[in-house]
Amino acid sequence: MLKLYNTLTRKLEEFKTVKDNIVRMYNCGPTVYSYVHIGNLRSFVFADLLKRYLKYKGYKVKQVMNITDVGHLTSDSDEGEDKLMVAAKKENKDPYEISKFYTEKFREDIEKLNFDKADYYPKATEHIKEMLKIIEVLMDKGYAYKAGPNVYYDTSKFKEYGKLSGMKVEELEAGKRVEVDHNKKHPSDFVLWFTKSKFKGHLMKWSSKFGEGYPGWHIECTAMSAKYLTSYFENGEFETFDIHTGGEDNKFPHHEAEIAQSEAAFGKKFVNYWLHVKHLIVEGKKMSKSLGNFYTLRDLEDKGYDPMAVRLLLISTHYRQQLNFTFAGLDAAGKNLEKVRDFMLRVDEMNGQDDAIEIVETARKNFEKAMDDDLNVSGALAVMFDFMTEVNKINVKDKEIVKGFVNDVLDVFGLKINFNREIDDSIKRMIEEREEARKRKDWETADKIRDELKQKGVVLEDTPAGVRWKLLK
Ligand SMILES: [Zn+2]
Repeated sequence: MLKLYNTLTRKLEEFKTVKDNIVRMYNCGPTVYSYVHIGNLRSFVFADLLKRYLKYKGYKVKQVMNITDVGHLTSDSDEGEDKLMVAAKKENKDPYEISKFYTEKFREDIEKLNFDKADYYPKATEHIKEMLKIIEVLMDKGYAYKAGPNVYYDTSKFKEYGKLSGMKVEELEAGKRVEVDHNKKHPSDFVLWFTKSKFKGHLMKWSSKFGEGYPGWHIECTAMSAKYLTSYFENGEFETFDIHTGGEDNKFPHHEAEIAQSEAAFGKKFVNYWLHVKHLIVEGKKMSKSLGNFYTLRDLEDKGYDPMAVRLLLISTHYRQQLNFTFAGLDAAGKNLEKVRDFMLRVDEMNGQDDAIEIVETARKNFEKAMDDDLNVSGALAVMFDFMTEVNKINVKDKEIVKGFVNDVLDVFGLKINFNREIDDSIKRMIEEREEARKRKDWETADKIRDELKQKGVVLEDTPAGVRWKLLK
């Protein structure tokens, strides 16, 4: 029985789908104005992990991850400038070029991190029509109003505003930290549609009955989840969907706003389970460009790290706990991957008579128990390493069962390990050349070739029986 911590109820709850064994899930995706950083990636990797475990449990998962390419301002509420426009100005490019470029880079990142591709990666700019339709419904139902140049959501009309984050409208009114927008009836109201607003020369704009303009940030997720996970835009039927995820910073105002818009417009509960991933810190400090500890996947690759080690480190601390991302941790993750690879290669060479069925069954049961407990990855990893220790003590006959279990675990964690023992001819030739150099005691050449091979991911071991090689990746 899978239990997940639901932010909405603040409880660990048994997971039940709305319909049969189909899980409909929406994940707040990247705002494509720069490379995503490892903190963003942690949230996306978590969504992928959750999807993979649901599939392991036998569910069919329909997954949507949005791409925000308009409307997300430099603040998560309505202040500041559009992030895309700021990047466009800085790089002296068209905002569409910026979003195209960074969307491509995002796709490369998730490919390297071995994501199980979502069914849809919809872009905000391609769903303006759907957003406008919902804004119209909100207007008709009295949840939205036009004031000054913009259209706002009236949070006072939605009695449950604040139910996800625990923020109260009164607190927001009292806490006036935010820049005051005098067009708003209440400080907690948020923009659904900007027109001739403070942003002059905004290049991304669309005509609408509210005036030429562009959407606020929150409305895109309501529109795109309804479009891809329900039949709302076909027949007006919105069906509550199962899971919505995001980083903890999305909780307020973004997800609170999504709930308010959706439940007011559709007249139904928006989502059953809300899951939020906590921030990470780097080497014990808040990640920031000024501290020089701000990393993207590219930065880590440039330092020679394997994306799979990054993935393992990102998932190994429970998603609701703060992760301290350290280079020592990254090295340890890389070593753990090597341990698994060596184990699998050793199992392959086993030819004994020991029965492993019982060990596998116990390990599988414990793995599931850990993962069923709100995806306790560190517990599940401990199960796998204990299992490897046990198997290493014996010489199994049923190696496929042993390997099958490890492969299932790797699949759930999304870790791709290259067990291929083949090396190509050019590598073989280099190994031979090194052997020849050693024979003529030309240690310098031998060491040079050894280093070159290591760069290519091939590690050599000189044994009394001759040279052996191992693949690092
Ligand atoms: Zn969102």
